[in-house]
Amino acid sequence: MLDLNKLCEDKQTIAISSHIRPDGDAFGSSLGLYAYLKKKYPDKKIDVFMVDPNPLFSFLPGYDDIKTSPSEEAYDLFIALDFGDKERLGNNKVLIDNAKDVACVDHHLEYKGIAPEANSYVLPDASSTAELVYDLVGKDNIDDDSAICIYTGIVCDTGVFQYSNTSQKTMETAGYLMTFNFDHSKVVAEAFYEKTYRQTLLLGRSLLESILLMDGKVIVSVITQRTLKFYNASSKDLEGIVSQMKHTKGVDVAIFMHETVTGEFKVSLRSNENINVAVIAAKLGGGGHERAAGLTMSGSSYDVINNVTAEIEKQYNEAEEESG
Ligand code: 5GP
Ligand code: MN
Repeated sequence: MLDLNKLCEDKQTIAISSHIRPDGDAFGSSLGLYAYLKKKYPDKKIDVFMVDPNPLFSFLPGYDDIKTSPSEEAYDLFIALDFGDKERLGNNKVLIDNAKDVACVDHHLEYKGIAPEANSYVLPDASSTAELVYDLVGKDNIDDDSAICIYTGIVCDTGVFQYSNTSQKTMETAGYLMTFNFDHSKVVAEAFYEKTYRQTLLLGRSLLESILLMDGKVIVSVITQRTLKFYNASSKDLEGIVSQMKHTKGVDVAIFMHETVTGEFKVSLRSNENINVAVIAAKLGGGGHERAAGLTMSGSSYDVINNVTAEIEKQYNEAEEESG
């Protein structure tokens, strides 16, 4: 395993960043690591960057320190959290390009070798990058600040310990984190379940307008720019919709997409054990995990549906061939 202290000891300036459209794990892993490094190395310059942070996570310690515009500074070390492809850094790509050394902590499948192997801690089976940060920081070094951050990351990426990425170790880690001074049920309520009224309306609308395809095995819903404008909403208001769609009985794959700019869609995919959406997303230029992946595609919503369902069909056919 990567030795965090060996890595950081001789560095004077350290930048941390996660991916664009940061989710709970992006915040949890970045701010959890930030809390640890700030305390361990009070004399070093440690900065955390994020593109367009979601105020939903403003309850996390360190949130107010997040730098939202990119820096040209050549940091001694850049630590990439929760992504393995530098294109996912958005405007913060300059940080990795200018850094003198790079490390990466991640649990995605499409790892593109953005850091030397000795500086990488990449385990696709881990529930979350936050859980990996916990390993690196070490049980004995966890404090109240890092505990709430890491707990939040785990809760968000496991769907409150529901998804198949939840392991015995995940539960044991979370159990230990609960012994620190923070309100764990409030974290679950606020970081995972709570929605603004606008978000509730968009969820309702997405469900109401969803359609079933492929004999009810696939559910699809689309939110256009027009609808987003009508509700004065942004992509941050669409979190959690695809998971709710996936709860539909008989559904193997949920496809939720929203129009980012005219003719471009951000697509979220969720599946069960019958379909591997990481493969589909990767084929179409995105990435993610076996049962939760995403991509961005140009064209109409019908193009997206045709492309994704064709890949789903392929997987059903392959499975059928294998079972004879
Ligand atoms: P979501 O659907 O919640 O945006 O993302 C689900 C998972 O897929 C997350 O782990 C996320 O990091 C990954 N993902 C989503 N969109 C993209 C994308 O455009 N490219 C890559 N490489 N991964 C993505
Ligand atoms: Mn993650």
